Amino acid sequence: MGSRRDFLEKLTVSTISLPILYGPTQLFAASEEPYDGPILKVAIMGLGSYGRRVAEAMQSCKRAKLTGVISGTPSKIVDWQAKYGIPEKNCYNYDNFDRIKDNPDIDVVYVITPNGLHKDQTIRVAKAGKHVICEKPMGINAKEGQEMVDACKAANVKLLIGYRMHYEPKTVEVIRMRKTGEFGKPKFFQGLSGFTIGDPTQWRLNKELAGGGAMMDIGIYSINGSRYMLGEEPIWVTAQETKTDPVKFKEGVDETIQFQMGFPSGAVASCLSTYAMSHLDRFFLNGEDGYAEMQPSSGYGPIKGRTHKGELTQPHITHQTLQMDGMAQLIFEGVEPIVPLDGEEGVKDMKIIDAIYLAVKTGKRVDL
Ligand code: NDP
Repeated sequence: MGSRRDFLEKLTVSTISLPILYGPTQLFAASEEPYDGPILKVAIMGLGSYGRRVAEAMQSCKRAKLTGVISGTPSKIVDWQAKYGIPEKNCYNYDNFDRIKDNPDIDVVYVITPNGLHKDQTIRVAKAGKHVICEKPMGINAKEGQEMVDACKAANVKLLIGYRMHYEPKTVEVIRMRKTGEFGKPKFFQGLSGFTIGDPTQWRLNKELAGGGAMMDIGIYSINGSRYMLGEEPIWVTAQETKTDPVKFKEGVDETIQFQMGFPSGAVASCLSTYAMSHLDRFFLNGEDGYAEMQPSSGYGPIKGRTHKGELTQPHITHQTLQMDGMAQLIFEGVEPIVPLDGEEGVKDMKIIDAIYLAVKTGKRVDL
């Protein structure tokens, strides 16, 4: 990986020919300069493994700061208070967090709990008048997602989904190339997303808390990826499920699903979502004039990849640091990432997931 300065030098040259500057590019450029603008005050709800990762990453943010926590585990609250200097008045549990309404130290709550809890928690945060960042999948189906969007609109707060890849530099570059026509007309996308899941007692294998199985958790990266890589919304899906371990993967918890999507231009996508293969993380985009391949494509990075023009050389920066600085910039200045990550975007993915589950059940093509 080149130095930050090398990257910024290259950026200065490349931006001359760019018609549009997208969020992360501006963030890299801005990050060398002192920042004295507003700071987004963030409370994390759900102090689990991903919550810890986000909190650590936020230590390097310029525009966002961890100021509060919401947790059902008092001992974690004590640990986080000590680690991040969080005052007692900014600590809540799941019974009393509606009181954030009166707390000026919190602008936004980042919901990082099991999927099945996102909807109610998001709506309660919105009703308390605070912006919401909600982890993917935003809920367990499109109906829930739409309710969340409606509640946030009614409360006049923003709803953003934790699609960190929308700020990831190599991903952003491939999307930029696709937008500027460097691949020609996009024709085909392949997305492979999976890992081998461990502990059979975890919430990810509990239908009520997870809303499904691998598709909800990891397959969603191929769904979201197909949309941002091809730049279109699918109009149909077909899907087939394979289950090798019905004890671990109970009714309604998918182990492996292959799915295909058709797009208005005639482009097609072929994807795999699984909890039964390790290190499956690959995107491939083919256009009439070129291609992009990324592997790994949506893990925590470094993301690696190349296009028909050569290696992707954009730097690795902790995804969640970029995301939280980017979201602060979005909330304060209205600077959008290269592809949106608002609640409506989340609902689009949920509608596709609903259609995939229906296609598995019926064995038929489902139109969107
Ligand atoms: P964990 O199980 O590690 O943490 C979830 C936390 O939620 C728990 O530690 C707990 O925190 C809280 N919680 C509240 N109610 C429950 C309950 N009934 N059962 C279990 N936990 C509960 O999960 P992850 O952090 O891995 O995932 C959380 C969310 O983040 C999911 O929606 C997942 O899809 C998403 N995620 C996103 C990633 C990304 O890259 N964007 C990566 C990983 C996860 P406490 O004790 O503080 O209440």
